[in-house]
Amino acid sequence: MLPNPSRETVPISMTVKLSAQNIRGLLLDIEGTTTPIAFVYEVLFPFARAHVSEYLSRHLTDDDVRLDVGRLREEHAKDVADGLSPPPFQSSELPSIVGYVHWLMNCDRKSTGLKSLQGKIWEAGYRAGTLRSEVFPDVPAALERWHNDGLQVAIFSSGSVLAQQLLFAHTAGGDVTQFIDAYFDTTIGPKNDPDSYRRICSELHFNPEQVLFITDVSTELEAAIKAGLHSALCVRPGNPPQPKMNEQLIIRSLDDVKD
Ligand SMILES: [Mg+2]
Repeated sequence: MLPNPSRETVPISMTVKLSAQNIRGLLLDIEGTTTPIAFVYEVLFPFARAHVSEYLSRHLTDDDVRLDVGRLREEHAKDVADGLSPPPFQSSELPSIVGYVHWLMNCDRKSTGLKSLQGKIWEAGYRAGTLRSEVFPDVPAALERWHNDGLQVAIFSSGSVLAQQLLFAHTAGGDVTQFIDAYFDTTIGPKNDPDSYRRICSELHFNPEQVLFITDVSTELEAAIKAGLHSALCVRPGNPPQPKMNEQLIIRSLDDVKD
């Protein structure tokens, strides 16, 4: 039986007053928080898929691309050893590399070789002007306001640091990276591990209770809360519903977070 929408709890948005709680740092998720989830799945991933063949045909002999292809060859050997059935792979044959990359994308694989190659394809697209990123309309003004209020702003996302920087440098409204002080990806630890948040606070030179973490995923909030950070759940159009958390701050826009 489908849930009756009229009986679902509608989250109420609240205003967060940072100075009242002595919060001096903001840590932001990207997907579902600053950026529509649809941008990632409907623009970013399809762009990489559509351009991998053209990109590799131009850059296959570049040292850093050869490094990625080497990682993919190792990953392919492991897939075969694990009894999976990837398409055949030959490092010297472009169509076979493209075929394997598409297969990895179909599996939604998050391996280093694939991520690194995707990052390079996005970078080329952003620089050529054929790819532009998307943030919610309230994001640029909020980043600028917090920055001008002397707050530290950092990003924590599963996308690579390069992919994060490119995203904020190429929004439809322009480059907003001058308002962002630090970027963290999962090389610092998983997003659902409290230790990742402890390490980030330590790198930012803040105590955890001086930092507010904003994300759309409740398991990430729980990890940050365990580490002692303040937290707010960001509810955006297109985000999957999250389990109800007691006394959780809920925001619908970064406008709700003020110094
Ligand atoms: Mg997210």
